[in-house]
This record gives sequence, C-alpha cells and structure tokens, in this order.
Amino acid sequence: MAEQKKDKGKPKKIEYKQGKMCPKCNCKMGEHSDRLTCGKCRYTEFKKHEPQK
Ligand SMILES: [Zn+2]
Repeated sequence: MAEQKKDKGKPKKIEYKQGKMCPKCNCKMGEHSDRLTCGKCRYTEFKKHEPQK
C-alpha cells in the first residue's frame, strides 16, 4: 500500500551532455572509455586527461 514511487516514469528530455559532434562530418561521436570516435569518418578525439597533482 505504500506509495514509494511518486514518479510515473515520465520520460524527461534526453540530455546530450556526453554527446559530442564530429567536427568533420557533424555526426554524433561514439564515446569510449578514453576517447571519442566518429563511426562515420573514423575521426578520433582523445579525452583530456586531468594532470595529476
Ligand atoms: Zn565524423
């Protein structure tokens, strides 16, 4: 009887926070653990590694 879930699971706007567009062909790039790769033109962009202290 307890109503724990008040949200009806209404789909919110999908945030393309991680989505990055390919600068070459303007397609969405696939995200990997340490790089972004465009599946269309194979453009690869490595993620910036934060410098250690
Ligand atoms: Zn591309």
